[in-house]
Formats: sequence, C-alpha cells, structure tokens
Amino acid sequence: MQLKKLPQIKILATGGTIAGSAASAGQLTGYTAGSLGVESLIDAVPQLREIASVSGEQLANIDSCNLTSALWFKLAARCNKLMADDSVDGIVITHGTDTLEETAYFLNLTVNGTKPVVITGAMRPATAISADGPLDLLNAVKTAACPAACGKGALVVMNDIILAARYATKTSAFKVEAFQAQPYGQIGTVAGGRVFIEAECLKYHTTQSVFSGKSYNKLPRVDIIYTHCDEDDVLINAAVNAGARGIVYAGSGMGSVHSGAYQALKQAAQNGVAVVRSTRISEGRVLPANPEWDAAGFISGGNLNPQKARILLQLALTVTAEQQKLQQFFDEY
Ligand code: ASP
Repeated sequence: MQLKKLPQIKILATGGTIAGSAASAGQLTGYTAGSLGVESLIDAVPQLREIASVSGEQLANIDSCNLTSALWFKLAARCNKLMADDSVDGIVITHGTDTLEETAYFLNLTVNGTKPVVITGAMRPATAISADGPLDLLNAVKTAACPAACGKGALVVMNDIILAARYATKTSAFKVEAFQAQPYGQIGTVAGGRVFIEAECLKYHTTQSVFSGKSYNKLPRVDIIYTHCDEDDVLINAAVNAGARGIVYAGSGMGSVHSGAYQALKQAAQNGVAVVRSTRISEGRVLPANPEWDAAGFISGGNLNPQKARILLQLALTVTAEQQKLQQFFDEY
C-alpha cells in the first residue's frame, strides 16, 4: 500500500507571546515575549507530525510591539521564495499579536502566489496554564495544509477562527478571543479538528496585487495622527517636517477633521503630502463627506483601520503620488 504524502508546511517564527516564557504557569503578564525558538514551538505540538511534514525557520524573535518594516521585507521575500518552491505546500508564520494584523496585511499585499499564508500567535505565554499557542499553531498548520485556503490571501488563525488579513484586527488586549474581522466576520473556522472555509475577501490581494512579488527594502514615511478634543496643527507640522510623504488622519466618526487640524492638513496636501482620512471608530467606512475636505485633496480611507491604511498608503506611494490614483488603491484594496 502506498502511503499518502503529508503536506509540507514551512513555519516561519518571529517571536511574540506564542514564544514567550515566564517564571511560573500563573504568570500571564510581565513575561518575556519572543524567548523560545521555533523548534520548541514545534516540539510542544507532537500532533503536527500527524497532519503535516513541518519544518521551522527562525526569522526573528521579538516582542511584536517593536515591529519594524525590515521584518516585513524579510518575511515577504521568504514567502515569495517559498511560493516558487515546489516542495512547499503552505506557510505558517508565528507572530506577536500586538502588530500581527499589520504584518498579515503587508503580506496580503506583497506575497505573490496562491499557497496558503497563515499567521498565528497566542495571548498566553507558552509556559502559562491553558496556554493557547499550541492549539493555535495546530489549527494554523491544518489551515495551511487545507486546499480550500489556497488563493484566499493571507489568513489569520487564532482561537479556532479563520480571518482574512484584510479585515482581521486585534480587539482585546488580554482575552484569548483577541481578534475579530471588522465588519464582515470570520471567513472560516477550525471545529472538531477540521477546517471549514465558507467565505472570502473580494478585495485585491496576493496575485491580484500590484505590490506582490516585488522586493522592498524601504518604504516612504507615513505618520498616523489621532484626533482628539482641542487638537491643533503641532503634530501634523511635525510629521511634515520629519519628511512624511503621507499622513493617515484617524478622524472622529466618518473621518471627520477637527477645525484645529484642517489648515495644516490642507497645506500638507497642497505641498504634495498624501492625506488619507481614516477613523478612530472600529467599524465603519470613511467616504467623501464634506466638500471642503474633498476640495483640499484628502483621500477617503474606506474601511481600512488607520494602521492598515498606513501600510496601503506606504505601498501605493511607491508607485504613484497622484491623489486620484491613490484613491483608486483605497477603493480596490
Ligand atoms: N507583546 C506581545 C507581542 O506582540 C503580545 C502577544 O504576542 O500576544 O509580541
């Protein structure tokens, strides 16, 4: 009898709480994120070997609150190489949850291929009582090995649910149920040990993305300005003086611009800085809302949250500085 070949899954480890360790099982805060190596993560889940042939690579071992774009470039380059490697069927990336959604969205836009790219993490360190990392890793590998996950863009698998990277966002700072997809919800689940994918993201990603398959080593500076009571122009001018080529304005409501910030943003836009109106609100869509803002040349950020709008703007600025073309990226991606 011929044995069925197991799917080959590559695990790229970058650190985070999933690789975190503490002095005792009861310690759930104040631990060191990114301290265990990828082999320890794999060895902690012997069930992985029953469903896939897994191999690990350590690309970084950081607390993801210290994320840099250098790690994005390294991950994207490695994923693009693995896409072209016939011996690999799927990719899993272990990552800190703090900025997981940003790395996931960057890869969603820059990886060129249809093999599954699944990003996972954990809310409790590996040493904790009821650590969530081992099951998250098992579910992530199952998803990466599942043919239905092909061509769906980068996926986030956490706490038994599968989310499209385009929409996945961290919504709890401490619960195991830490991620949601705003506003459309999960695209699938891992239930009873089986992977179910029953929806998909229709926004451009991976093979449809003009940013995919390219090699990046620098992105233009884009700052996020968060509106608040008594806002003035100080931070906007500081961003412009620091050389920002773009500003994502996390406005109130539907991307509303405070009158204290308006003139500085308008001036910035007139001087060629791309200004994207986004929102502090966790669910919604920023559309053209006020003729004055549209006349000032502000771009509407749609339903990307500010941290993801920043990534799209950084990538879009590598191909155009024209307001209308930038707006088109925000409409399509
Ligand atoms: N600070 C950790 C990190 O993002 C949190 C986590 O992984 O859950 O690396």
